[in-house]
Amino acid sequence: MDKKNIDWGNLGFGYMPTEWRYVANYTDGKWDAGGLTDQSTITITECAGVLQYAQTCFEGLKAYTTEDGRIVCFRPDLNAARMADSCRQLKMPVFPEEKFLEAVIETVRANKEWVPPFGSGATLYIRPYMFGSSAVIGVKPADEYQFRVFVTPVGPYFKGGVKPLTLRISDLDRAAPRGTGHIKAGLNYAMSLYNIVDAHEQGYDENVYVDSATRTHIEETGGANIIFITRDGKLVTPKSDTILPSITRRSLLQVAKDYLGMEVEEREVRLDELDQFTECGLCGTAAVISPVGTIVDHGREINYAGFGPTIQKLYDTLTGIQMGRIEAPAGWIQVIE
Ligand SMILES: *Cc1c(COP(=O)(O)O)cnc(C)c1O
Repeated sequence: MDKKNIDWGNLGFGYMPTEWRYVANYTDGKWDAGGLTDQSTITITECAGVLQYAQTCFEGLKAYTTEDGRIVCFRPDLNAARMADSCRQLKMPVFPEEKFLEAVIETVRANKEWVPPFGSGATLYIRPYMFGSSAVIGVKPADEYQFRVFVTPVGPYFKGGVKPLTLRISDLDRAAPRGTGHIKAGLNYAMSLYNIVDAHEQGYDENVYVDSATRTHIEETGGANIIFITRDGKLVTPKSDTILPSITRRSLLQVAKDYLGMEVEEREVRLDELDQFTECGLCGTAAVISPVGTIVDHGREINYAGFGPTIQKLYDTLTGIQMGRIEAPAGWIQVIE
C-alpha cells in the first residue's frame, strides 16, 4: 500500500477531499443499504430541513497508525452511541450503532493511503454526520435524511511546540439548562461563532462558558471539555447536564484512576475557586489535552502550569494507550487493518 505523497508533518487542520466517502439515505421510514461513493458534493432541495431549521448533528474521531503499523481508531462505539443520542434529541432517525461502526471502518479502509504514518504526528480525521434532506417549511422534523462519513488528513496538533492557551470567561452563553448543550448539534456551533471570532479579536484562544442559570460555575469551552488538577494532585472536572460528554475526558478520568492511581472528582466547579487549581487543560479528540496557561475572568487573571507534571502524565498515558505503547482497557482500540 502506497501512502499519499503528503508532507504529513506540515499538514494543518483543514479539509482535503479524499477518494471515498460513505452515504446512506433514509426514505419511507427506513435506511437503505448504504455504501461508498466518490461524489464529494451533495444536491438537496433548497427547502431541506438542514438548510431551513438546522436539523443536523455530527461526530468527530480519528484513525492513525500505531507503532506496530496497524491502522486503528479510538473508542468509536462511544461516538456511535453519542450520535444516536444527538439524533434522538433532534428527532432524527438513529443510524444503527453497528452500521455506524461499519461505515467508519469501511470509509477508513477505502482511504487507507490517507492514514498518516506512525511518528508523523498527523492523523486521519473522521467526520460522521447526518442531516434532514427533504423539504420542510412548516416547522417539523424532515421525512428524509442522509448519513455520511468523510475523512480528511490533519496535521500534528502541537506543531512547533506547545503554547499554553489563554482563555476568557465568556459573557455570552453556550447552552441553556434543559437545552441542547449535551448533544453534538451543528446549532451549538453556529451560535458560538460570533463569540469565538470576538475572543480571537481580543487576543484569547477560547471562551470558557459558565452555567447560564446562575453564572457561578464553569462548564466547558466551545469545543472541548475542561479538567483541573488540585495542589494535592486530584483531577477535578465540571459536572453539568449541559456539557457535551467528551470521550477524551471520560477516558482521561478512567486513566487517572486506573493507571495513575489518582483521585478524580466530577462535581460543580465554582468560578471563585479557579485559583485553587495548579494545572488546567482542555480535552477533546483533536489535541487529547491542550494545556491552559491563563484564564482571564474580567480583570482577574489566574495562571496555570501549562503542561505541568500531572497533565503531562495524563497526556503521555492516554496517548501511549492510543498508540499501542501501553496496554489499553478492553475495547478501547478498534483495529481497522
Ligand atoms: C466534540 C466536543 C468535545 C470533545 O469531545 P471528544 O469526544 O473528546 O472529542 C467537547 N465539547 C464539545 C462542545 C464538543 O462538541
